Amino acid sequence: MAIRKALVCGAGGFIGSHMVKRLRAEGYWVRGADLKQTEYSPSEANDFVIADLRLRESWEAILDEGIDEVYQFAADMGGAGYIFTGENDAHVMHNSAMINLNAADFAARRKVRRIFYSSSACMYPAYNQEDPNNPKCAEETAYPAAPDSEYGWEKLFSERLYLAFARNFGLDVRIARFHNIFGPEGTWQGGKEKAPAALMRKVAEQADGGQIEIWGDGLQTRSFLYIDECIEAVRRLMESSFQGPVNIGSEEMVTINQMAEMIMKIAAKKLAIKHIQGPTGVRGRNSDNKLPRKELEWEPGQSLFDGLSKTYPWIHGQMQAASKKIPEVTAGAR
Ligand code: NAD
Repeated sequence: MAIRKALVCGAGGFIGSHMVKRLRAEGYWVRGADLKQTEYSPSEANDFVIADLRLRESWEAILDEGIDEVYQFAADMGGAGYIFTGENDAHVMHNSAMINLNAADFAARRKVRRIFYSSSACMYPAYNQEDPNNPKCAEETAYPAAPDSEYGWEKLFSERLYLAFARNFGLDVRIARFHNIFGPEGTWQGGKEKAPAALMRKVAEQADGGQIEIWGDGLQTRSFLYIDECIEAVRRLMESSFQGPVNIGSEEMVTINQMAEMIMKIAAKKLAIKHIQGPTGVRGRNSDNKLPRKELEWEPGQSLFDGLSKTYPWIHGQMQAASKKIPEVTAGAR
């Protein structure tokens, strides 16, 4: 059988770099493309191209006729501190839309066998996520649309863009809505990090008995999915005949305070929590996995605690390598 060839866009980022590893392990030939190299370990891509995917000439160069599958993860994105302050709205909308306009166009022209698009739970309407104990995020609740960020609006636009290319040009698309993916080799500092990594960094910085800050009252609810589970679900979607959009997330909903307590337990530290003003997004959000269970026969196999336990030592190690002044990992920490 001929070797399958994949293009991974955003291969220098968190999810893209993990997807490169997975595809290589499955025997694919992989080309990665990104504005930047991977930060934490060398990319396993056969060919890695530094390219600005907002530009058509980049696509001319990277998407040749031999590519069977495209995985489109490239986006201008970050955690709440990046997408909810309003300061980055124009960049987020313009940069990500430009990337997706090119991706859909070139994938159709070059007749790739299939293209994956990473949408986000941020496209769900804010009015269904006001009750922290009962958020509604089933796929069919997307309309009437009312995302709470421009990031979410761009995701919704691009979902529709890919579906329009499917309808009019026969582009074979697969669309997933990710719910808070975390794990080793994800951004953990610098302003684009998300809640799990930010909390793990804050806990690692403190000695036992210290204090960490949490944005808002910490009672906002979310679910978080470990990276390996996300990659498995994307591969299942790409191999299935189901187009999506489909949720890829966990149904284990916790408050941010509860997640902080879990991390303290993993680090074997007791820390006080100080709640401060900060961007928090919707009050509640949780994945609804009825559709992925039915269409992909998939649901996460491990708990949030397990995923955090695998990620905390990695962040701690990064901080030590960056020679931050942090206490040694205590005996109970894993
Ligand atoms: P990431 O920021 O680590 O990776 C995105 C990559 O895209 C980065 O390496 C960045 O350099 C690259 N990029 C940005 N602009 C580019 C450009 N003009 N040209 C080329 N490359 C460019 O993010 P991630 O967490 O790996 O997310 C991957 C995808 O999944 C994104 O589309 C994101 O919106 C989506 N998503 C992620 C999550 C999550 O929790 N991580 C949740 C929902 C959706």
